[in-house]
Amino acid sequence: MARKRTKSQPLRPSTKILTEGFDPKLSLGSARPAVFRSSTYVFSTPEAAEHAFDVASGRSKPAEGESADLIYSRFNHPNAEMLEDQIVNLEKGSASALAFNCGMAAIVTSLFTFLRPGHSIVYTVPIYGGTQHLIQDYLSQWDVAGIAVPCGRTDAIARAIANAKNLGAVMIETPANPTLTMTDIRKVCDAVAARKVKKGDARPVVMVDNTMLGPSFQHPLEIGADLVVYSGTKYLSGFSDMLAGIVLAKNRELIKGIRALRGFFGTILQPDECWMLGGRLPTVRLRMDKSSIDAQRIAERLAVHPKIKKIHYPTLFDDPEQKRIYAAQCDYPGGMLSMDLKGGKRAAFDFLRHLKIARNAVSLGGVETLACHPKTTTHSGFTEQEFAQAGVTDGLVRISVGIEHWRDLLADFEQALDAV
Ligand SMILES: *Cc1c(COP(=O)(O)O)cnc(C)c1O
Repeated sequence: MARKRTKSQPLRPSTKILTEGFDPKLSLGSARPAVFRSSTYVFSTPEAAEHAFDVASGRSKPAEGESADLIYSRFNHPNAEMLEDQIVNLEKGSASALAFNCGMAAIVTSLFTFLRPGHSIVYTVPIYGGTQHLIQDYLSQWDVAGIAVPCGRTDAIARAIANAKNLGAVMIETPANPTLTMTDIRKVCDAVAARKVKKGDARPVVMVDNTMLGPSFQHPLEIGADLVVYSGTKYLSGFSDMLAGIVLAKNRELIKGIRALRGFFGTILQPDECWMLGGRLPTVRLRMDKSSIDAQRIAERLAVHPKIKKIHYPTLFDDPEQKRIYAAQCDYPGGMLSMDLKGGKRAAFDFLRHLKIARNAVSLGGVETLACHPKTTTHSGFTEQEFAQAGVTDGLVRISVGIEHWRDLLADFEQALDAV
């Protein structure tokens, strides 16, 4: 007998993304959203224009149920609103979202919203190269002290959070790239909650870069994080053909502050790209499921290959703390794996040179399989100490598994290993 859905049972994300957040009536009844490319919006009266500016600037509050008039597309436009209304259906625990023109735009705009001169920020390393530069080389010039903690060190990050002076934000990326080392989101949130906040001071925000496993397999907002950020360039869009960024929050007030800054910085995603990304959202789950299932099959078979020293993949973790975190906060292991080849850089380069299906490129999360050598590309700015700490060895190759048939991919990796 079919199970009846009771009223109290909420719809699941893969249903909600196709049924909620888009009102065809606002697009002349079209089944899929229209694209509104206008840079400016016409007011019915000068009074309406005056009121729209009063509401937008916060000088007056919108009436109950009133939606603010559109003004100018750097502040807001219908396709950004539609994308934002749709994507909250995919991110568990989110109430509000913002679209940006790339992942870094989302990260920069969010950090500038919450950080002030004199603040500190605790962050996990390794973290995305752009984020690391931003904190270490740029925010440091604005008197924001970056406190780096190696990913996966639960006690160390809790201590850093407890001891940080004037903590404005905690930024974590989990799993970390390229070894997939995981940081315990709940413990980070607990450590932030345990800090005494002086009267009048804002509580530090916890931001999680969820690009690697979200929104399908990891749900930081449900665990207690304040903000989730994405490079929409990766799994969300999924075809390596556009740049985008997304920020989501449980608390709408946090989003309001970021939205204001997005208006000044001009980091909103353009209408056509919003439309493209919106159309990709219903298949995020399908693409990520397929990549994860196939990456696991490939990782577990290659783990015993004689030319491979080690495969970094969540189901192959041997550290008990890493196993515990993976079990506690991830639904599935995901489509990224890294292999440490015996024979160092030469072996890694030979392997990349001989791949026939997988392409040698940075980036990840597309339907096509990509492979790169982190030490000489994505992580090439690291010091020797940073390489050692991050597990970025000479023989390490990072692979983003796409949706090709896994047996073809495995055969491609095996023939490239034969040529090493
Ligand atoms: C790619 C990436 C970013 C940056 O995103 P862009 O869209 O390239 O600006 C940030 N974080 C992670 C984890 C990424 O993989």
